[in-house]
Amino acid sequence: MISIGIESTAHTFGIGITDSQGKILADCRRTIKPEKGGIHPRDTSRHHYDVAPDVLKEALGQSGLNLDQVDIVAFSRGPGLGPCLRVGATMARAIAVAHSKPLIGVNHCLAHLEIALKLTGAKDPVFLYLSGGNTQVISEAEGRYVVFGETEDIAIGNLLDVFARSAGLSFPGGPKLEELAMNEGKLIDLPYVVKGMNVSFSGLLTMVQSLMQKERLEDLAYSIQEVCFSMLLEASERAMAYLGKNELTLAGGVGANKRLREMAGKMCEERGAKFFDYAKEYYVDNGVMISWAGLEHFSSGDVLPVESSKALQKWRIEDVKIPRRL
Ligand code: AMP
Ligand code: MG
Repeated sequence: MISIGIESTAHTFGIGITDSQGKILADCRRTIKPEKGGIHPRDTSRHHYDVAPDVLKEALGQSGLNLDQVDIVAFSRGPGLGPCLRVGATMARAIAVAHSKPLIGVNHCLAHLEIALKLTGAKDPVFLYLSGGNTQVISEAEGRYVVFGETEDIAIGNLLDVFARSAGLSFPGGPKLEELAMNEGKLIDLPYVVKGMNVSFSGLLTMVQSLMQKERLEDLAYSIQEVCFSMLLEASERAMAYLGKNELTLAGGVGANKRLREMAGKMCEERGAKFFDYAKEYYVDNGVMISWAGLEHFSSGDVLPVESSKALQKWRIEDVKIPRRL
């Protein structure tokens, strides 16, 4: 079986093609780079419409396939920005109808977790899912992904991007702050807020913004990473202890951070657990994960009628039945 998957929830328009053995036949992506400001839904959807035909051509070229040779069409149905989601949904429906292929609507968060399992071979981990819009400690219970902890206010990626923007750095801020934090700096005392398995970052954001004139940007970037990543790993460790699980996996764009992965590895080592890492490019949004989750859903019989395939901007991962693993 061959699946084409379309990702368009936020900053990236991506198309991936995979087969049911997990072989990646194509992986093409374009990410919007706004000159100023963050990710504006309308401008970003315009970007996605502009690049979509080229990305499709490129993906088919890479795989050496035409659309008739593809068996299923999967798209990222939500959660995400409405205008952006509609680009991927529109393209997926058009391909499915024109080539008489089954259409599969994939939950974006679930796709991040399923590709992490496929790439690492982890069996039943606690996931720390960290992206621009999400910060969640998740694990499987009775056929569903359950969110055991999450941010009480802003997401970690959002914190990094907003702080970076206040410091005059363009989107995405996370990798730029990572670069600045590379040389161990001065550790500035910042609010450390963990409540059970929940975290909160808004007070920390206000504080680092107020310190911008007083402290070096390198030291602020370093301290943000040390404090926030410790908070996130404390919440994850608590989930591992409560649930009696001894595997940890990161997912979502912030997972690409080298220091975070190093800290996650160390925490697991200290408690005799295993940290499952994978290639950096699969942490950030991509079409491959959508294509892969699409295959799993198809084998579970989760085909979506085209006439009721509207995008779901606020689609919680708990509302999706975990598909059969391939
Ligand atoms: P996603 O939506 O899953 O692709 O995640 C996007 C978020 O990941 C944005 O907030 C980025 O700033 C953040 N991000 C990407 N790479 C890194 C990195 N190396 N370190 C920290 N944050 C990152
Ligand atoms: Mg994402």
